[in-house]
Amino acid sequence: MRVLKFGGTSVGSAQRMKEVAEIIDNGHQKIVVLSAMSGTTNSLVEIANYLYKKNHDGANEIINNLEQKYEQEVEQLYKSEEFINKGKELIKSHFNFIRSFTIDMFTVFEEKAILAQGELISTALFHYFLQENGKDSALLPALDYMRIDKNNEPDINYIKENIQNLITEEGGHTIYITQGYICRNAFGEIDNLQRGGSDYSASLIGAAIQADEIQIWTDIDGMHNNDPRYVENTQSIKELSFDEAAELAYFGAKILHPTSVLPAKLANIPVRLLNTMAPKAEGTLISSKQNKERMAAVAAKDGITAIKIKSGRMLLAYGFLRKVFEIFESYKTPIDMITTSEVGVSVTIDDDKHLNEIVNDLKKYGTVEVDHDQVIVCVVGDLIAENRGYANTIFDAIKNISIRMISYGGSNFNLSLLINAQDKKQALNLLSDKLFN
Ligand code: ADP
Ligand code: ASP
Ligand code: MG
Repeated sequence: MRVLKFGGTSVGSAQRMKEVAEIIDNGHQKIVVLSAMSGTTNSLVEIANYLYKKNHDGANEIINNLEQKYEQEVEQLYKSEEFINKGKELIKSHFNFIRSFTIDMFTVFEEKAILAQGELISTALFHYFLQENGKDSALLPALDYMRIDKNNEPDINYIKENIQNLITEEGGHTIYITQGYICRNAFGEIDNLQRGGSDYSASLIGAAIQADEIQIWTDIDGMHNNDPRYVENTQSIKELSFDEAAELAYFGAKILHPTSVLPAKLANIPVRLLNTMAPKAEGTLISSKQNKERMAAVAAKDGITAIKIKSGRMLLAYGFLRKVFEIFESYKTPIDMITTSEVGVSVTIDDDKHLNEIVNDLKKYGTVEVDHDQVIVCVVGDLIAENRGYANTIFDAIKNISIRMISYGGSNFNLSLLINAQDKKQALNLLSDKLFN
């Protein structure tokens, strides 16, 4: 069995949904994971923000506009009166549910229930479409098998057991349709796998059912060698190893959710990135195969804060780094990059929710400096030390850009540089010119 995930743009209109139905219509048994139609989750976030502020008029305006958009899509999607009516009833019930939150108190629980509506609607509409066209399909409700634990990590055993039970109960369909992104948490409440998390859903499902292949269908022909939003003439990469793909996803290549490679890697299931708008394009194959001696791609991660702790006396005395790391751990704040010297240690974080507390605690150990608006630019490939000259080429490419931190050797696949956000676009372009063109 294969798992095919279609992102927001891929199911962004009635026409696109029809194209997806054609792509999946080949007789192979598969699980189809869908995102919400593009723009929907953003609108749901806006609605929730208004409801937190008790601005019911603001919320209602977005709810009404979004509902209207869906009513139009329903008319385009189905041929028969019967299915148009079914679609409209479905839309009405979901939007009435969203409206029900404009009266009472509004907390994070209600917010998560609202955010789940996008994927619930897209999968139900698509399922109806397949039914209308006589295709054999069944819905697998993600809220019945996808679960995270108390640490917000996927509950792998629960997912495996429950999705397999559901497939057995449903029995022998060719196409199973399910929601990306949404799940339940350890308390059984509706939750989600974070923005962009449908890729993660697909990978978790693939691993849970030991799929032959996981396909991520999106609006571009696979992983490009640089970020196409900032660099022109980027090229699609034919093959990536799991490790390379994980580094790129973690360090900003938006085509893949940061955590989505690991479940596939652990289960050794190949992941193919494909283009819904050009279904014949080869795309990118991610597998355990490592291509030797090449720089594969460049990516950039925004919104980074750098923290430097200077402590001439204590630094590099044993136990010092542990104390520093414990502070970050106590605020559940992951560190991305680390560099050390005799007099100081610099680290970066992308979650600055507890920055003030962290800085206060760090001051016990020395003077602390904070730099905001930083970006990690990362070059990924087979960068083992034996392949001489790569570092030189990289630094030569960006010799006129100020570099705040450098990290190399943490893995064989990544060289990371911390620079100012304002230099990001220029750095990405200079690297592309030198490394790939
Ligand atoms: P989906 O809605 O299908 O999940 P996303 O918008 O999350 O799609 O991801 C696809 C987008 O990722 C592309 O349209 C592209 O702009 C962006 N992107 C950023 N970096 C890369 C890269 N290195 N290769 C391909 N796409 C990238
Ligand atoms: N719909 C969710 C989002 O927009 C999840 C996803 O598309 O992957 O973030
Ligand atoms: Mg995405």
